[in-house]
Amino acid sequence: MASIKILLDKCTGCTLCVKSCPFGAIHMAERKAVIDMAKCTLCGACAEACKFAAIELEKAGGPAKDLSAYKDVWVFCEQKKGVIQSISFELLGEGRKLADKLGVKLCAVLLGGGMEDAAEKLGERGADKVYLVDHPALKAYQDEPYTAVLVKLVEEFKPEVILCGASTIGRSLISRVAIKTSAGLTADCTGLDIDEKERLLLQTRPAFGGNIMATIIAPDHRPQMATVRHKVMKEAPVQPGRTAEIVSKAYPEETFASRTRLLNVVEELTSTVNISEADIIVSGGRGMGGKENFALLEELAKVLGGAVGASRSAVDADWIPYSHQVGQTGKTVCPKLYIACGISGQIQHLIGMQSSKVIVAINKDPDAPIFKIATYGIVGDVNELVPALTREFRRVLNK
Ligand SMILES: Cc1cc2nc3c(=O)[nH]c(=O)nc-3n(C[C@H](O)[C@H](O)[C@H](O)COP(=O)(O)OP(=O)(O)OC[C@H]3O[C@@H](n4cnc5c(N)ncnc54)[C@H](O)[C@@H]3O)c2cc1C
Repeated sequence: MASIKILLDKCTGCTLCVKSCPFGAIHMAERKAVIDMAKCTLCGACAEACKFAAIELEKAGGPAKDLSAYKDVWVFCEQKKGVIQSISFELLGEGRKLADKLGVKLCAVLLGGGMEDAAEKLGERGADKVYLVDHPALKAYQDEPYTAVLVKLVEEFKPEVILCGASTIGRSLISRVAIKTSAGLTADCTGLDIDEKERLLLQTRPAFGGNIMATIIAPDHRPQMATVRHKVMKEAPVQPGRTAEIVSKAYPEETFASRTRLLNVVEELTSTVNISEADIIVSGGRGMGGKENFALLEELAKVLGGAVGASRSAVDADWIPYSHQVGQTGKTVCPKLYIACGISGQIQHLIGMQSSKVIVAINKDPDAPIFKIATYGIVGDVNELVPALTREFRRVLNK
């Protein structure tokens, strides 16, 4: 565990540390600094600001690791009900480029029950090696056994880089593994590359509410871990007949123990297509004016065979469930056609949809920022235009 302490004999009561603390965690008592551990995040800003070396910060992790012992790029391949999720193929596509730049192997990691055949197929998606742990307790995702197994694999085989989907499962799993293995982890990356000289993973992601793109490195930690959202990277192509070396690992029963018991997995019921997979998305924002008007979007989506998306404002107003939210704190989508209805086009929304092939924006404000990225813009009222589009598409498509 990391720790911090004030060396009272060196503290002069200058208050530099109080001013430097971004979390308001330091106050003075009897001309000596006192740290409120309930507020302190151990960021180290105070230790850097102190001119008298009166603050001692000990980082977690013990002796430095031999970073050169770590090699290969791993992709954690998520499966649900035995089916490998498409995010895994996207990561294998990106992982291939990174592994080639590093001159190492691309390895897939597959945990599940009865996954041998699926493991064989990962070679066709570019994996050179597949680490397979097959056990009934791994059939459906559970935090504890999945974490325990992945930590064991990391400790034994020492990967240089691990990529994982920024899905509910990926986020829950990889943060646990990162803590247990003292790894560097960057969430929700939108771009990955390699600094070939330093062998560093360059992890680019939006920061400060999407206003800047930050490239993050983890020079002192291995593995370097990154999560990537669905649909940000291109899927690895299928190379029929290509094979991978399968490394099957078995672990003692206690590795699979869990303090929680999985009773049931309940799929969310939705009448239209899942937005992550949809080729066409009809999305609504605050400009739709109310929950009842989302029925207009559903009708249009149905005629087009698409899904309904939403801005955060619409989700916050309880007009549609969170699973439909597009954007920084929702889903990233990349459909062939995105129709934005009554959405202003704030950066946090754009982050989630700007790589759509064709963007149509409908907004009554001709200066709405969404028009800057739209392929086609229609200035007008959604209540008139959406039903008109539905009528016309129904006529043209004969539906
Ligand atoms: C940390 C953070 C994360 C966020 N994450 C997300 C996210 O994931 N997704 C997201 O969407 N937002 C997110 N937001 C919120 C984001 O900043 C915006 O507030 C939000 O996207 C605005 O939603 P909106 O466009 O529906 O509403 P508004 O900005 O209110 O825009 C409504 C638009 O509708 C138009 N309009 C009104 N009536 C009509 C009509 N009758 N016909 C046609 N047009 C009409 C208006 O001209 C206006 O342009 C986040 C914010 C923060 C700070």
